[in-house]
Amino acid sequence: MSDPYTIIIGLEVHVQLPTESKMFCGCSTKFGAPPNTQTCPVCIGMPGSLPVMNRKAFELSLRTAVALGCEIPRFTKWDRKNYYYPDLPKGYQISQFDLPLSCNGWLDIGCGKKDNLRAPEGGDSPIARPHPNLLPKGEGTSSSGPRRIGIIRAHLEEDAGKSMHDEVAGKADSRIDLNRTGTPLLEIVSEPDLRSPAEAKEYLAELKLLLAYLGVSDCNMQEGSLRVDANINLHIDTPQGKIATPIVEVKNMNSFRAVERALSYEAERQWREWQETGHKLGDVPKSTRGWDEGSQTTHEQRSKEESSDYRYFPDPDLVPVTVTEAEVEQVRASLGELPAALRARLEQTYGIPAYDSDVLVNQGRAIVDFYEYIARSCGDGKTASNWVQQDVLRLVNSRPDLKFEFVLETGQLVGRLAGTTMYIASPTLAVDLSKIGAPSVRYEHEVSVADHLTLSGTAIVEVIKAVKAGNFETSRGREVLGIMLTSDKPLADAVSELGIEQVDESALIELCRGLLAANPKIVAEVKEGKPKGLGALIGQAKKKNPNVNANRVRELCLQLINDQAHSTPS
Ligand SMILES: [Zn+2]
Repeated sequence: MSDPYTIIIGLEVHVQLPTESKMFCGCSTKFGAPPNTQTCPVCIGMPGSLPVMNRKAFELSLRTAVALGCEIPRFTKWDRKNYYYPDLPKGYQISQFDLPLSCNGWLDIGCGKKDNLRAPEGGDSPIARPHPNLLPKGEGTSSSGPRRIGIIRAHLEEDAGKSMHDEVAGKADSRIDLNRTGTPLLEIVSEPDLRSPAEAKEYLAELKLLLAYLGVSDCNMQEGSLRVDANINLHIDTPQGKIATPIVEVKNMNSFRAVERALSYEAERQWREWQETGHKLGDVPKSTRGWDEGSQTTHEQRSKEESSDYRYFPDPDLVPVTVTEAEVEQVRASLGELPAALRARLEQTYGIPAYDSDVLVNQGRAIVDFYEYIARSCGDGKTASNWVQQDVLRLVNSRPDLKFEFVLETGQLVGRLAGTTMYIASPTLAVDLSKIGAPSVRYEHEVSVADHLTLSGTAIVEVIKAVKAGNFETSRGREVLGIMLTSDKPLADAVSELGIEQVDESALIELCRGLLAANPKIVAEVKEGKPKGLGALIGQAKKKNPNVNANRVRELCLQLINDQAHSTPS
């Protein structure tokens, strides 16, 4: 039975922009410095200090907004959001209220699932991608297909400082670190279009991927580069009509998994609460609840302020920003290939199913470039995809302790991968970080090349070609590749190390003749159109000689049986 209610979720994502300096002053934004060492009169709001906008932060925000299909107003301004909190000594936060830098965008999710089930190897039928404008928006209950999630707005603001409670030597104390104060934050607010906790997680993953391709954020949730607040309530069908429960904002979720769990918990809690109290939207003030990872529950924090409580007014110290049509077009032209378009192109160019393109694109541009090189070089997109997914990615995922380098034919480095973070190294990449003016992005300089493994595209191509030529089978090819990658040996040496020899054709025919003579029952079945027994013949052939090629044995046996059937009995 389906749920007696529909879950309505909207997400507010705060993305810390990787600029070198803060939003309105020259203080460093580097993470991990000793408390209160990266502050100045501007970011702690001393009287008489004057803020100046960080142009880079604005450009990165514009880049994201354009990629999200947002409308970019020609004129945008800064407002003071007034509230007092110990980690906000200024007494206000500079944000954007009624004229944000962008509005009315969208993000498509679930495109990798349009053929839903994983296609069997080799045998898949391409399913046409629906035209973007035909994607169902808003209403919907499942996360089983592509959906378009509306973006209300993306605006720029400054971060507050950090309160640390009882963190020092187990003492009951509270300390304030203002290093984070004034760090540029891009807030991306979705429409309440998400219909399940799983879909919320999917939206976050797609947004994170987009930001990585744009070079806008490393999205490190541990370091607070990406923070998520979720608004959730339920629509319940009652005999008196549809009612909505009070909206709750859930905070303090520090992973996408936590978001999913917190929302699942909250939906059930609201359902129980509605059954007990009958409270509808408007009966009680909007409330904020925090997610407790330990107890896996949410707990009430405070009643939520309405925007009128903040007494927004235009910041008198900052000039409004104007954006021209030409500037927007320039940004649009510099976006490079983004995940959705890249998936579609890989499917079309290499004939791979949506599942495959989704897996590849989700790994980041380095893996995509690596895949494309292999696919082009061996001329078989699906086989290349299988090798990259089953061999390269399995290896990468099984060794989070190692850093991988992907090298093509020319010895050109495509990128590095460490854990789940991609480190971009190639100047040929669509997203050239220096071009978008983000030279301080924290991708590069954290890479140490001490523990790295080089994955050679050429080696993989050679093995694929050898398998295709029938020199050995895929399973043996994996062993060959393993030796090539770990020892740097050429293909021929790896093959001889494994004792793989090509079986002489006449010897193979002899072997097959012998098998057929010894298995008359199977031969009779095949003649009746039941080729199932051929597998057993292949197994016997491999026992006699591990180097035989299964496909060739199958072909030869069928041919010999066919010859027998058509030869006139004497
Ligand atoms: Zn400062």
